[in-house]
Amino acid sequence: MSVGHHDPIEPRLDRAAEACARRGGRLTDIRRQVLALIMAAREPLGAYALLDRLKPARANATPATIYRALEFLQEHGLIHKVERLNAFIECTESGEHHPHQHAVQFLICGQCGTVTEMEDSGIAASVARAAELTGFRPAHATVEVEGVCAACVAERA
Ligand SMILES: [Zn+2]
Ligand SMILES: [Zn+2]
Repeated sequence: MSVGHHDPIEPRLDRAAEACARRGGRLTDIRRQVLALIMAAREPLGAYALLDRLKPARANATPATIYRALEFLQEHGLIHKVERLNAFIECTESGEHHPHQHAVQFLICGQCGTVTEMEDSGIAASVARAAELTGFRPAHATVEVEGVCAACVAERA
């Protein structure tokens, strides 16, 4: 089951907390707040943007607070880092039966800034195969595509 971006946030946070608990992790208040900010944002957020948004609720938050929370959320597959933007987005594939770490590709719209998550296991497999052909042992790959999203294309037409 994939999770739509337009669902209300609270039930999604509750599902995330349950998923963490099943794996023996705890979605503490600070982790939940950071995840809520990422879910509510229309665009990927960097660590410092998150810190700014967290400050009103947590005056004593530091960059380290944010980085620790982000690390936990990534480990549990609740968010992804978009390397090209050095920013974070919610994983939209984090359904109950979905493996909590998965190969992912991002489509980055240069006009409206939205990032869409794609999961095509064929892409991941062919990147790995091509790397192995050179004798390289791949551990982790990110595929990020810049362009114009469908909504922006429609607006132009
Ligand atoms: Zn994902
Ligand atoms: Zn767009």
